[in-house]
Amino acid sequence: MGRIVLLSDDVASQVAAGEVVERPASVVKELVENSIDACATQIEVAIVRGGAAVIRVIDNGTGMDRDDALLSLERHATSKIRTGHDLARIQTLGFRGEALPSIASVSRFSMTTRLANALEGTEIVVNGGKIDQVKVSGEAPGTAIQVRSLFYNLPARRKFLRSENTETSHIQHQLLLQAVGHSQVGFVFRREQNLIFHAPAAGSLNERIRDLRGPEFLEQLLEIQPAAYHGIQVSGLIGKPGIFRSTRAEQIVFVNGRAIENITVQHGIREGYHTALMKGQFSVMFLLLWIDPELVDVNVHPSKREVRFREPDRVREAVANAIQNTLKDNKSRQVFGGSELSKHSRTNSATQPQSTQDLIPPAEQFALRKDWLYSVETAAAQGSQANVFPELDESVSTGNHQPALPEQCKTLQNSVEHFRIVGVLGKLYVLMESTEGLVLVDQHAAHERILFEQLRRQMETAGVPIQRLLIPLTVQLMPKDYDWIAANAPVLEKMGFALEPFGNSTLKIDGIPQFFRTDDPTATVRLLVDELRSMTVQTSRLRMGEDAIAKTVCRHAIKANDEIRIPEIQKLLEDLLCCDLPYCCPHGRPTMIQISYSDLEKKFGRK
Ligand code: ADP
Ligand code: MG
Repeated sequence: MGRIVLLSDDVASQVAAGEVVERPASVVKELVENSIDACATQIEVAIVRGGAAVIRVIDNGTGMDRDDALLSLERHATSKIRTGHDLARIQTLGFRGEALPSIASVSRFSMTTRLANALEGTEIVVNGGKIDQVKVSGEAPGTAIQVRSLFYNLPARRKFLRSENTETSHIQHQLLLQAVGHSQVGFVFRREQNLIFHAPAAGSLNERIRDLRGPEFLEQLLEIQPAAYHGIQVSGLIGKPGIFRSTRAEQIVFVNGRAIENITVQHGIREGYHTALMKGQFSVMFLLLWIDPELVDVNVHPSKREVRFREPDRVREAVANAIQNTLKDNKSRQVFGGSELSKHSRTNSATQPQSTQDLIPPAEQFALRKDWLYSVETAAAQGSQANVFPELDESVSTGNHQPALPEQCKTLQNSVEHFRIVGVLGKLYVLMESTEGLVLVDQHAAHERILFEQLRRQMETAGVPIQRLLIPLTVQLMPKDYDWIAANAPVLEKMGFALEPFGNSTLKIDGIPQFFRTDDPTATVRLLVDELRSMTVQTSRLRMGEDAIAKTVCRHAIKANDEIRIPEIQKLLEDLLCCDLPYCCPHGRPTMIQISYSDLEKKFGRK
């Protein structure tokens, strides 16, 4: 007994106050959070008429005794914190002691609750905030809360409720978030008696995602090997390179079990993917962070969706490192060396006497992992917008079911394919054939990728070869630009620029990187400075340097319409396959696209 206390006025005034009951989904969120805080392993949610008529949440958690049940309905009554000090290290989802009284004051509310070892439970009925009945009840241990006629006493608020379908999808979204963040808890969701989803208590996030989204979706994700970075435990699932959306809707981040939105984490994600994502692309991910509660402030906003980190840089780095390591691991499991490829194709050709592989010398064959390739649909899907849980789109309720993006990414099969160069299209696209159809390689994008990785390696090792200019250049800059360049000079020097201050905001340049093929170095350098200046200052130093490289390389990479002869193409493809991220250019555009025979058959109406 007596777990719940009233917070002192002093502590209560420190709690970020505000209205928590905006709509049915906020009621569901608060009630389910309470169930999770009460250590429930099974939570059932049922709604009628988008939650406006009935919301019922039943859990098998700790339950409450009669005194606590009554106290829980008082404002600022909570079992979760006691002092201002506790407020600075919150381990539970709730802490404000406001949800139950707020909900009970705007609905017809009833609660039955029972401690595990108690002989009997308690039932309390509240109408519009007034306790009408308190009696003994014989329900199972745990807590069941029913909220009927939400906002019945606030007609203005009730009028603002959206359609039943909209409110339902908000509720479902809330529940799915909780289900992803708490895979050890079983969830059942019913709407008007119909079972909408059932996620049995799962052993891992993988299982949970498979149950909620299906195995094809899970295949697009890589598992982060759980590890601690700066004491921050990072785990979860992240989208493979090439799997992205045009919004952040599928970037779900949890901090200590709470779904949050936070700019620091977003920067970490972007830094982690680095060049595998281009502007406007957002990776898919379910990221779970566990941080010492003292280092996170959740008492920022009543919805508790915002957090502040005491040491944001550590969080950003932890996220970036976890993602980088996961992408690298994945890569090292996949890469095949160039010579091995040819061997592999030879041995394979023996078992496939009818294939094109017998007709061409092994040296002209290439083996590629199929999941390095973008299918035509995937490439086209770059612009498409996907919801976190596509089944939540309103189209579902109207029966107009869009095929989910996962089904479109048919190229995700972990086997190796063999290709033969057929020719070059429009002086730009290398055509290759395989037993599965056609693969197009964008020479320009491929070359950019190769140069970019070469440059990065050179920067880390021997340094970038410099071409000395016969006559040094002087570039007069705006003072602001000059300061910026001066501050970033070490990065530029690592990139192969020989720079020297020449006084009066003027730079003397007597060497540029060898891969710059330019007739007009002054103009090139000016362009470069403009580009560098326009880059955001928000990103970290390291990333800024690398981005600079990516952009520079891109601009000066092989010209789009340079004609390339077969041996050069072969070298290009070999080099591409040796890259860390062969499937996209430094800006995240695909380097290869596949058009399968079945795509062609569809187009020609053979199917
Ligand atoms: P908070 O969650 O911020 O403490 P609430 O108003 O949501 O405030 O709940 C008040 C208190 O009631 C909680 O601190 C908890 O002790 C108790 N409580 C609420 N819901 C449940 C539940 N489902 N099972 C057990 N105890 C609960
Ligand atoms: Mg609560």
